[in-house]
Amino acid sequence: MRMRIGPRLHGPRIDGCPAPFPFPVPTPALAPPSVAVIGAGPAGLMAAETLALAGVPVDVYDAMPSAGRKFLLAGKGGLNLTHAEPAPAFVSRYRERAGVLAPLLDRFGSQALREWARALGVETFVGSSGRVFPVDMKAAPLLRAWMHRLRQQGVRFHMRWRWTGWADDGALGFETPSGAQQARPAATVLALGGASWARLGSDGAWVPWLRASGVDVRELEPANCGFDVGWSAHFSTRHAGAPLKTVAIEWDEPDEGVGADASFVAPAGDVDRGTGRGAAFAAIGPPVRRRQKGEFVVTATGVEGSLVYAASAALRQTLAQQGQATFHLDLLPGREAAFVAAEVARPRGSRSLATHLKSRLGLDGVKMGLLHECLPREAMADPVALARAIKALPLTVRRCRPLDEAISTAGGVRFEALATAPQTPLMLQARPGVFCAGEMLDWEAPTGGYLLTACFATGRAAGAGAADWWRRCAAGGTPEPV
Ligand SMILES: Cc1cc2nc3c(=O)[nH]c(=O)nc-3n(C[C@H](O)[C@H](O)[C@H](O)COP(=O)(O)OP(=O)(O)OC[C@H]3O[C@@H](n4cnc5c(N)ncnc54)[C@H](O)[C@@H]3O)c2cc1C
Repeated sequence: MRMRIGPRLHGPRIDGCPAPFPFPVPTPALAPPSVAVIGAGPAGLMAAETLALAGVPVDVYDAMPSAGRKFLLAGKGGLNLTHAEPAPAFVSRYRERAGVLAPLLDRFGSQALREWARALGVETFVGSSGRVFPVDMKAAPLLRAWMHRLRQQGVRFHMRWRWTGWADDGALGFETPSGAQQARPAATVLALGGASWARLGSDGAWVPWLRASGVDVRELEPANCGFDVGWSAHFSTRHAGAPLKTVAIEWDEPDEGVGADASFVAPAGDVDRGTGRGAAFAAIGPPVRRRQKGEFVVTATGVEGSLVYAASAALRQTLAQQGQATFHLDLLPGREAAFVAAEVARPRGSRSLATHLKSRLGLDGVKMGLLHECLPREAMADPVALARAIKALPLTVRRCRPLDEAISTAGGVRFEALATAPQTPLMLQARPGVFCAGEMLDWEAPTGGYLLTACFATGRAAGAGAADWWRRCAAGGTPEPV
């Protein structure tokens, strides 16, 4: 159906805009041309809010029946919204993307996020590790209040509208409950997420469509993921599901430009770089040994959990280069190596080794199981080798768990594919007027609230860029593509 045209919006065809003004828009019949936001996760909703606050009509499309499904899942783990550490340390968590994300996080970082949540009636608190959570540790009340405010701001939602790519004339194609539909917005924000937990909506189907448009997209890979070790059936049957509490791991961080545009500062309380707390990454050089205390879980096939996720980027990179990756597990991080060696070497008389280690060092259950699983019989019988293994047991991982199981996604739209002009942040060079936000961009970060914070910050920036684009289209100007 051809749209009727409101007089104020008449104008010539504008280079860089997807169609002449005014554009046909899907709903309602006489609506002015809007900005389309595809993806109603945290990044897309933040882009929509930024647009609405700028007075821009916004249509949000999502393939799922309701918004923010992954955000709600994050709430099941307490919703770690952000982190309270100082800005330099915070920004360094984005590794080689720290430099490019820093200005966006300056504009909407940890403190701004907490104030934004407060304005929605959700108070936050800083946990002992510096992580920030809503007081009630839930995502649903925050999302509910946010959706209510977005609707009041005039944001229109089109749920069960699955974007299927661009038509030859640049129109957005959708599969909807009422059949195929098209939209020709003034600008588009893509906030399609990564490709983990596909059943919640983000499936990475967009990758080939963007590549076909000439957008450079790095292969999507699991981030904050578990790993397969290949346990024996004996060990797996007995210990799958067992938590390894208050252990420490050490791993080598391949230095592939990490810190090239920002120095890494270890966050207080949980990371020791081996070279001293707070030491900076060398810009380029040999791998950096890192050490972190925490917990993880033994699974039927390997390992997963927050401590493993912290090392996952490095382990994934080493796996890709070498086919396997090893980290060292300290089963007793609270005990000095000399103390452990002395206790292990103490004569045990007729007591079994298991009883001896349990009574002298409190080692039992899955920790003892791991020693038996990973050490040859001779090493178990050698007090020096055994004591060394208790403090640094090598665990070799063979592959990442599948992307669908991961907490987040590495890879995505490369920042080099984005325009560099300040008024068009996060806009695709290959598709002027199309902006990207959230996890579909090529950055990664550990758990700790850094994922959501970057999604919100990039959503904010993409929304601001799209609002500016819309304004220039509406003024009849020709937006600068880059
Ligand atoms: C178990 C779990 C716990 C987590 N806990 C935390 C936490 O505590 N703290 C933290 O910082 N992060 C956490 N995360 C990560 C965080 O949830 C994500 O980084 C964040 O949701 C990504 O936001 P996004 O808006 O980029 O993408 P998403 O939230 O994935 O949203 C993308 C949206 O796009 C839609 N979409 C995709 N393709 C299409 C299409 N073709 N057409 C229409 N719509 C489409 C999807 O349906 C979805 O609604 C957790 C993740 C998981 C899996």
